Amino acid sequence: MSRWPLRQVAFVGFGLIGSSLARCLREKQLVERITASSRSAATLRTAKQLGLIDIGYSDAADAVRGADLVILAMPVNATEQVLRSIRPAVTAQTVITDVGSTKGNVVAAAERVWGRVPAGFVPGHPIAGSEQSGVLAGRSSLFANHKVILTPLPDTDPRALALVESLWRHADADVLTMDVARHDAVLARTSHLPHLLAFSLVDTLARESQNLDIFRYAAGGFRDFTRIAASDPLMWHDIFLANREAVLQALGTFEAGTQTLRRAIEQGDSETLLGIFTRARAAREHFTHMLAGTAYAKSMTSSNELIFTVQPGGRLSGRARVPGDKSISHRSIMLGSLANGVTEVSGFLEGEDALATLQAFRDMGVVIEGPDRGRVRVHGVGLRGLKAPPGALYVGNSGTTMRLLSGILSAQPFDTVMTGDASLNKRPMERIAKPLRLMGAEIQTTGERGTPPVSVLGSVTASRGGLKGIHYDLPIASAQVKSGVLLAGLWAEGSTSVTEPAPTRDHTERMLRGFGYDVQVDGATVTIQGGGELTATSIDVPADISSAAFFMVAASIAEDADLTLEHVGINPTRIGVINILRAMGGDLTVMNEREIGGEPVADIRIRSARLKGIRIPEDQVPLAIDEFPALFIAAACAQGTTVLTGAEELRVKESDRIQVMADGLHTLGIAATPTPDGIIIEGGQLGQGEVISHGDHRIAMSFSIAGLRAAGPIVIRDCANVATSFPDFIGLASRCGLRIQASERSASQQTDA
Ligand code: NAP
Repeated sequence: MSRWPLRQVAFVGFGLIGSSLARCLREKQLVERITASSRSAATLRTAKQLGLIDIGYSDAADAVRGADLVILAMPVNATEQVLRSIRPAVTAQTVITDVGSTKGNVVAAAERVWGRVPAGFVPGHPIAGSEQSGVLAGRSSLFANHKVILTPLPDTDPRALALVESLWRHADADVLTMDVARHDAVLARTSHLPHLLAFSLVDTLARESQNLDIFRYAAGGFRDFTRIAASDPLMWHDIFLANREAVLQALGTFEAGTQTLRRAIEQGDSETLLGIFTRARAAREHFTHMLAGTAYAKSMTSSNELIFTVQPGGRLSGRARVPGDKSISHRSIMLGSLANGVTEVSGFLEGEDALATLQAFRDMGVVIEGPDRGRVRVHGVGLRGLKAPPGALYVGNSGTTMRLLSGILSAQPFDTVMTGDASLNKRPMERIAKPLRLMGAEIQTTGERGTPPVSVLGSVTASRGGLKGIHYDLPIASAQVKSGVLLAGLWAEGSTSVTEPAPTRDHTERMLRGFGYDVQVDGATVTIQGGGELTATSIDVPADISSAAFFMVAASIAEDADLTLEHVGINPTRIGVINILRAMGGDLTVMNEREIGGEPVADIRIRSARLKGIRIPEDQVPLAIDEFPALFIAAACAQGTTVLTGAEELRVKESDRIQVMADGLHTLGIAATPTPDGIIIEGGQLGQGEVISHGDHRIAMSFSIAGLRAAGPIVIRDCANVATSFPDFIGLASRCGLRIQASERSASQQTDA
């Protein structure tokens, strides 16, 4: 079969799409001769004057005779007639493709002409175009970065398919394949239905008597929504008739949707209206992120590198509230969704990961208002109220969401698939899948390493009578696995218990109690009984002690500091940083202790102190595991040597925190010796320089506070991920007294260092 450059390419129809493709072929010199046929001599004349074709014909058969590749670029309803006329002029070697917006009728036309679709015929559809038509409207860049769908048939010659694929790749398009029926069903919803609505809305309003006023005062929404009503009427007439069945089906679904809205408006049903609108808004954003594989937090979408610069000195004083706890934010959405009634959440961490959880529950039909400055209202659907999501649940980079949801989804009567971004898709999921399988869950991970996507076949489990309670001895201490199993236990028959080898965070247990669910704790074993109910509550999410830790260290090492951190979660499984700083001589006072949604909370006052180096007790390591980067800065400012052991886990966090912190401290002139399971740091004078955070938010924030005691400016690179846990770190740090600024370094200025 032919190779590029081809000898002859023939177009039947030479308007917007045909002439755009011819422009690509010409620009990239992919063909020796281009022929075309059109009904109008003027089109051919223009095409020739523009140098786009070598010869034009009025008869399609003449144009295609001798061609290696024939491209049908005329309206879809002319397909059968065109194929009949070119049939005598094509051979078994000729590759034929088309660009029609519908595929079922094009394939049917080919079947009627040949009896069966020729092996050299590859139906195709570029998802690109404009409201303009004709040879003058074409441009060579029309298809760049747009999708082209090919719908090969079982008998399609793979060499013909390969040629057509490469044709579109030369036009810089993304090529994908799907079957004919799916193409028509998908396009009926995503393209044909919106065009139908736009045509209909404009026509309906135009016929009303006050139409002049309507158009004169038409707001941006009307203009945006109806832009596509300027498209070619004849082409769209053909498309709707050609894709009749799929369009009618899509229209039926849409009409049911408008009926629901009509009823809700008639009855003043705010919950339904809010539910539809919030889900729609969130879904639109979600699709955008999902398709681009990017993050939810807007601050992370720039391709430039985010850099923090800290000037030396600065005094810390006043009162501050750091963002809400991530673990508790996740769980407030999960349990709020599964509860009966409306759960009011404040202090919700609007970071990437917790937003992924929020989106997953919206996808499963839960109405969630917000977040609006940390406030979220979750309209719980009860333990039996979740609905099958319309597609795969995309959880971004959030391992917590995926592991905890695995437990919840295992008990639902529907099937789900969870996927994540490139980095989450490398993380192990078998550790949660295994205990869930013991409970009767039908759950599959991917590949040899048991990574996402994770498929949960809830319908299979349901058909076998649902989950059964188990006792599970956690092989490694993991709050996520413990929580996933306990959450599955809400639906399991009998009791579910988990014994952990070392204490892990107990937020799930506490919050279950906060939602009125009975949880028994006996030493290292937690037990719940299936079959209860969760009752909605109010949750003022405690400030995250991991975020507060930076300010605890900052106020300890700064001169004349007196800072009070408000409403900090002091869960006993998380207070290692307070204990360790106190052991180093830190001046921390825990005040106003209270309990919120099952969690202990307090205000913490920190004043400057002369810190001294210590050997960190190993029993404190699990209680401070995320806070070590900040504590290493405390150690660098302390008098004497600080030794950490038993913390090998630090090497497999978002970065190798032992090595990355040691490297940064060296740059700043501090002697820091990494060991396999910890580090040895000699306190001294911090210098100045440029450190790299390796995209690890906690490393970036730790070196930011180091500026308080540095001899000169510290520049911290690769800081965009700070937004994942601490959306307004720079703002809050500046208000407290740190001399810190964020700036962007453009990608072109970046070095490989
Ligand atoms: P266009 O600019 O109007 O061009 C259509 C071409 O087809 C003209 O050269 C016209 O020739 C010729 N033609 C019309 N009726 C014909 C017939 N009965 N027999 C033979 N030739 C005929 O339209 P286009 O936008 O390029 O659309 C062409 C195809 O691309 C359609 O199948 C459409 O579904 C598909 N498509 C369009 C878009 C878009 O946004 N426009 C996007 C994707 C796919 P005359 O000079 O003789 O009128």
